Amino acid sequence: MAKQDYYESLGVSKDADAAELKKSYRKLAMEFHPDRNPDDEAAEQRFKELSEAYEVLKDPEKRAAYDRFGHAAFEGGGGGPGGFGGGGAGGAGGFADIFEEMFGDFMGGGGGGRGGQRANAGRGSDLRYNMEITLEDAFNGLKTDIRVPTSVICDDCTGTGGKDGAAPVSCGSCGGAGRVRSQSGFFTVERTCPTCQGTGETIADPCHTCNGIGRRQKEKTLAVNIPAGVEDGTRIRLSGEGEAGLRGAPGGDLYIFLGVRPHRFFRRDDADIHVRVPVPMATATLGGQIEVPTVEGKLLRVTIPEGTPTGHQLRLRGKGMKVMRSESRGDMFVQIFVETPVNLSKKQKDLLKEFAGDDKTSKKHSPESTGFLDKVKELWEDLRD
Ligand SMILES: [Zn+2]
Ligand SMILES: [Zn+2]
Repeated sequence: MAKQDYYESLGVSKDADAAELKKSYRKLAMEFHPDRNPDDEAAEQRFKELSEAYEVLKDPEKRAAYDRFGHAAFEGGGGGPGGFGGGGAGGAGGFADIFEEMFGDFMGGGGGGRGGQRANAGRGSDLRYNMEITLEDAFNGLKTDIRVPTSVICDDCTGTGGKDGAAPVSCGSCGGAGRVRSQSGFFTVERTCPTCQGTGETIADPCHTCNGIGRRQKEKTLAVNIPAGVEDGTRIRLSGEGEAGLRGAPGGDLYIFLGVRPHRFFRRDDADIHVRVPVPMATATLGGQIEVPTVEGKLLRVTIPEGTPTGHQLRLRGKGMKVMRSESRGDMFVQIFVETPVNLSKKQKDLLKEFAGDDKTSKKHSPESTGFLDKVKELWEDLRD
C-alpha cells in the first residue's frame, strides 16, 4: 500500500515551520480523534496517519531524513515511527499531548509531574467519562462518587509485571535506553525500541495474574468534586486517574465531560437564568405580589406594577447562576405572561361583559387592540397606492 506523503497528510507545505506543523496537526487530530468518531475506521486510520506524520516531522533529525529519503528512511524494523498498535506507547502519547494543550490544567492541580521521554513510554491512556447533572447540581456544586471501568495496578506484582513483584531488568535490545538507532543510507535514525516499547526494561519472568502487563481490568470508585457554576460541556481532569501505566509507568488522566440537563422551568444563559412566570389576569391588571422560584430552591416575593403586560421582564440582580471560582452571581430574568381566565361562572362572565363596555371605554382600557384592524387596513391601502 502506497503511503501518503507526510506533508500532504498534515495538509502543510514542505517548508512549513514547527508552529504551522503543530497547528495543523492539532486541528486535524482533534477532528479525527477516535473520541469524536467512535466506530469510524476511516477516521481512526486517518488519526494514525496524522500521528505518524507528526511524530516524524516534529523532530528536526527525522524530518531531514524524511525530506531526503522519503518513507524509505524509516523502513526495515518493526512498525513505523510512533509504533502504533502495540501497547499504545507512541500513539497514546499523542492523545495526551492534545488534551494537555487543549484543556491545560483545568483543575489547577498540575499534570502530576510527567517525566521525560522514558517515563512517558508506557503511560496509561486517557479516559473519558460522560456525566449528566441537573441545573441545581451545577448551581450548588456536587461531591459524588463515580464508578469507572479502568485498568488498575496488578496487586500480585505491585505493577512491576514480574512474578512476585520482581523488578524488570534492563532491556537487552537497547541497553536500557528505550531507543534504538538504525542505519539508513548515510543517516542514523533513532526510534522507540520495539522490544521494550521505550521503557528500557523487560520482564524476565512475567507475573501470571496480569501476564506481565502490570495492570488488570477493574471498576474503580472515584470521588469527584464538581465546582459550583459549571457549564454544559465543562471538562474536568482527574490527573493520573485514567488507565494505569504499563509496568509502573504513570497513569493516564480521566476527563469528565459534564452535561447539564435542560431544566423544566429555568433556562440558563451563561450566568443568567431566565424563567417564565404565569400571572393571573386580575393580578397583572391591578398590580400585586407574585412568588418567583429561584434556582437555589426558594420562593421570592416580587411586586408587579398595575397594568403589567404579557412579556414584561423583571430583572432580579444576583439571583442567577453562580460563576465558577468566583463569588459573583448572574441575574435572573423573570418574564411575565398574563393568564387568560378559564372556567368562569355566569356571574364572572357578566362582570367581564360589563367591564368590556362599549367602543368608547374599550379604547381607553385596551388601546392596543382597539382600532388594530383599522391600522392594518390603512397599511394595506397605502401599499395599494
Ligand atoms: Zn501482575
Ligand atoms: Zn529496549
